[in-house]
Order: sequence, then structure tokens, then C-alpha cells
Amino acid sequence: WDLTDARDLEDIAKARGPWADATFTAAPLIAGTTTGGTPYDARNPARPEDCLGSVTPASAEDVQTALHAAREWATDAATRARVLRKAADLYEDHFGAFFAILAREAGKSQLDAVGELREAVDFLRYYAGQAEALQHPARGVFTCISPWNFPLAIFTGQIAGALAAGNGVLAKPAEQTPITAHYAAQLLLAAGVPRDVLQLLPGDGATVGAALTSDPRVAGVAFTGSTETAKLIQSAMAKHMAPGAPLIAETGGLNAMIVDSTALPEQAVRDVLASAFQSAGQRCSALRCLYVQEDVAEEFERMLFGAMNELRLGDPWHLPTDVGPVIDAEAQAQIADYIAQSRAEGRVLHELTTPAEGHFIAPVALRVRGIHDLTREVFGPVLHIARFKAADLDRVIADVNATGYGLTFGLHTRIDGRVQHVVDRIHVGNMYVNRNQIGAIVGSQPFGGEGLSGTGPKAGGPQYLARFTVAKTGSVA
Ligand code: NAD
Repeated sequence: WDLTDARDLEDIAKARGPWADATFTAAPLIAGTTTGGTPYDARNPARPEDCLGSVTPASAEDVQTALHAAREWATDAATRARVLRKAADLYEDHFGAFFAILAREAGKSQLDAVGELREAVDFLRYYAGQAEALQHPARGVFTCISPWNFPLAIFTGQIAGALAAGNGVLAKPAEQTPITAHYAAQLLLAAGVPRDVLQLLPGDGATVGAALTSDPRVAGVAFTGSTETAKLIQSAMAKHMAPGAPLIAETGGLNAMIVDSTALPEQAVRDVLASAFQSAGQRCSALRCLYVQEDVAEEFERMLFGAMNELRLGDPWHLPTDVGPVIDAEAQAQIADYIAQSRAEGRVLHELTTPAEGHFIAPVALRVRGIHDLTREVFGPVLHIARFKAADLDRVIADVNATGYGLTFGLHTRIDGRVQHVVDRIHVGNMYVNRNQIGAIVGSQPFGGEGLSGTGPKAGGPQYLARFTVAKTGSVA
């Protein structure tokens, strides 16, 4: 699945073709009778007239039924691993449907959809392999709460981690992407995960999410989403759950990149564009603030804006699309307001034209003095650019650390020793050198942040599963 190969594009187009107009449903999958809340339509963010199907959220009663039925996965590790591997195979068999759903529900370009499916499958196989080597037993039933920006990979990774360790799972997908979650959950059940071990509860964060993170029957929570929501969950857990109940939170970032005067400009331009604008900037790892060394800044910015003009913005159903829509009307309005305010302050350096229809935000570059001018994570295709003097490198690092976030950091340099200098000082979970700063590889490049960006352990890493288990001390007379 290398999208540089035109044959792969043809395969994708063929496999997803039958799903172009298909309708889907998302509803609670619980071990018991569902009452369900009020159904609503799922809409394509690129073409809101395209209705993917109907979503029935979980009712308060459904949540209680699921909590009552929830069980640990009482079987041996080899069986759990076999079932998770079977699920990985099923995911691959259904790639056409996934590519269609990811484009139509989440606005994912096909490049993003390929990466996302591969990551989901890798999580299933990697945690299956780790399950067989686990020393300690499961904790109980985990609530897994996922965001819309990786509706398949993160949803699957959390669940696979909890299940591999032998826990039960109550999964609450994001409001915006329940159809991806429902489709995936059905494959996990079809692979052999028992119905009382994995239950799906689509619905609002404030109702369904809150109920699932404030119940003493829940042993722990795996959460990925915004830092603000993680804090709400943390306080709900402190109030209602056992003091030792773990929260595994993967949250937001304010990510920077340095391009110094020795960087290879063509490569750095390509990597800045991918880091800031791929997935329409809707990645926790995305580049938010670029620091360019003053001596080369003018020329570099000129090249960057020229390359920005080549980005293809549009419906991700169109295979060559680089930048799709943002997730919904609310996100579009918030980001558009932010850009309008920046425009009023005279900070717009370069921007593309926004299509009239659909929830699009055209990629934009804004001038800032430094990362301290960013007061929050703007979750869209908005790149801030600052300039720095060579002598100020350590001040830049200090400013980035002062945000309190610590997710990703990018460095483009050819100076010996500079990489180690930065690694030793920057407080982030993932650093990327002379490449784009998005992406992770399950197993070899685990992903996760520190500070406001998350609690650890890193997803796709050797420590992840241990958090879903409890070490027991035995003493036999
Ligand atoms: P969000 O915090 O709004 O929602 C995430 C999930 O939490 C959703 O399922 C939502 O319904 C649920 N939720 C909301 N309120 C809740 C509550 N009170 N109790 C329980 N659950 C609740 O985040 P989002 O907009 O879906 O996702 C974007 C955010 O996720 C960004 O900040 C991004 O940086 C972050 N993110 C982080 C990572 C990472 O690995 N660190 C990965 C992807 C996304």
C-alpha cells in the first residue's frame, strides 16, 4: 500500500467503489436489550448532503445494562491472541469499506486512510503478541474513550490493549465517528470477542462518556482526546472510582519545529507541509509553530508558500486530494474565527482559497513572534511561523518547554551535535529529525507525550499493556 504506486490507487478505488452510496448504522452493541436514544443522521464533512446512515446513541439505561453485564475476558492468553489476530485479518479483508467510511465520515484522504488502517491492524497484531508474554492478570473492565481524528486506529488500539491483557471493555467512540467504530466493533465481535467482554456505547461525552468514567465498577480508563476532557475525567474518577484506578490519557499538543540555516530546504519544505497540513492539521502530533532561522527565513518562506499553492484541497473521495475538510461545522466555525481574528491583526502570511461547499478550512500560514503567542491548540490546517537567531536556540527550546505540552518536536539541521543538544533539553515524548513530525510505528516507534500531552505509557510500545494489568504478590506457606 504505497500510494506512490498508481496500481494501489486503482485497487483502493475498486475496493471502496461499492460503498460510495452505501448507508450504515451505528447503535449500542451491548449484552442485553437496547433501548437507545434519539437517532440522528451521520453526515459527510466534505459533502454534508451525503448522509452515511443513522446513529442511535446509547441511552442512560443502555449504559447501566452494559455496566451490569460487563465481564473480564476469562480465557487464556493464547486464545485472546488468536482472536485479536483474526480481527486483524478481518480488518484487512474489509479495507474497501473502511476506506469509504473513513473518507465519508471522518473526511480522511486515502493516504490517511491507508495509514490509519495499517496502524489499527498493527495494534491488533502487536498487542496479541504481547498478550502471550504477559506476567500479570487483568484489572477488570476498562472504559475506552476515543477521539474522531483517528476513529479507527486509536479506537482499535485502546480496545486491543485492554482486551489483550484480559480486561473487559466499554468503548465510547467520539460523537462525530460512531459509524467507523460500529463497523470495527462488529469485526472484533465476529473474530470471537464475547459480547459481554466488548460493548459499544456511542453517545455524547457529557452523558455517556461521563457515566462510563464515574462508576466504581470500572477498573480504569483509557482516554485519547483533548487535555481539557482528560482533566474532567481525572476528577470524575477521583470522586467515584478506586484510588488506584489508572487513567491512561493521550491528549493534545502545541508542537514546534526548528529549521536552521543548514537544513536542506526542499526536504524541510516538504516535511513542514506534511506536518502542518496532512489530515487538515487534525493530528495531535501536527506542527503548530515553525521556527525558521532568520538568515534563511525569507527565502524559505517564499519556497514554502509556493509549495503550499500546490496542495490539492477538496473531497477526499477524489483520490489525489491532499487536504480534506475539517470534521464538522462547529470546528470549521471555530477555526475560521481564529483565522479572521489573525487577519484583523495583520498576521496572515499566506493562505489558499476555501471551497464554498463542505466544512473546509484552507491551509493558512500566520506570523507569530514565538510559540508563546499561541494560547491554545488550534486543531486545523493553521501553521504559525516565527523567526529565530542562531544565538537564541536555547531560548526557543525554553519557550517550547514553557507551554507545558510535550508531544512532538521536529528539527531540521545538518549540524553535528545539535540533535543531541536538543534531545537533551526538549520535553517531548516524540522527536523527529530531518523528516516530518507526524506518524508513529507500532512496535518500533511508540507514540505518546508528557506534561499536558498525556500520562503515558506510550501507545504501541512495550510498556502499554502493563498498565492494563495488576502485579500480584503471592505468598504460600
Ligand atoms: P475531545 O476531548 O473533545 O473528545 C474525546 C472523547 O472524549 C470523545 O469521545 C468525547 O465524546 C469524550 N468526552 C467528552 N467529554 C467527556 C466527559 N466529560 N467525560 C468522558 N468523555 C468525554 O477531543 P476530540 O475533539 O475528539 O479530539 C481532538 C483532541 O484529541 C485534540 O486535542 C488532539 O490533540 C487529541 N488527540 C491526542 C492524541 C494523542 O495520542 N496524544 C491522539 C489523537 C487526538
